[in-house]
Amino acid sequence: MARYNSEQCRICRREGQKLFLKGDRCYSDKCSVTRRNYAPGQHGQKRTKLSEYGTQLREKQKTRSFYGVGEKQFRGYFEMASSKKGMTGENLLKILESRLDNVVYRLGFGVSRPQSRMLVTHGNIEVNGRKVDIASYLVKPGDVIAIREIRKDNPIVKENVNNGAKRPVPAWLEVNPETLSGKVIRVVSREEIDLPVEEHLIVELYSK
Ligand code: SF4
Repeated sequence: MARYNSEQCRICRREGQKLFLKGDRCYSDKCSVTRRNYAPGQHGQKRTKLSEYGTQLREKQKTRSFYGVGEKQFRGYFEMASSKKGMTGENLLKILESRLDNVVYRLGFGVSRPQSRMLVTHGNIEVNGRKVDIASYLVKPGDVIAIREIRKDNPIVKENVNNGAKRPVPAWLEVNPETLSGKVIRVVSREEIDLPVEEHLIVELYSK
């Protein structure tokens, strides 16, 4: 039973959506959301109508969990998004999407965001030829992200890149499987962000 109740799967079940936190398992019929699509816990199968505040809160928590960001840092991203031109919710998602750990995941070097974060923090990644071990580093168009030369034999990365067909690389990025590197072609568009979230609800939550 315990294998269905891992912390990450409980988060997905709480949100009622697949947040792809565990790698290959998320794409299989072993996924806990596929098997038991109701909230975890004793009263998980009871239907409860969320208040307006509860709905906004869930959208925020879901987004935080999807990108693996803590509350304080998420709030900081919101402030950053508010200070930019354009729609704050969309800006927020674009900032989150340009985190280095997310880009490593999108390039297919990591099988999940948590694993990609580990690849970054363990010193496997370089940006524009310089080692970067900060998962929250924000990439920009033109940046080249690569597995560092001395880590190119990393079996995790090799296996993930070879299995890359499961998850196509989005059009705003370009990957070179031979050199284990990738490039940010342009800023991601909202349509390319596959998180099922109504970001305006997060803006409303923080605007109270
Ligand atoms: Fe678990 Fe992945 Fe399914 Fe989420 S998507 S419930 S992390 S297997």
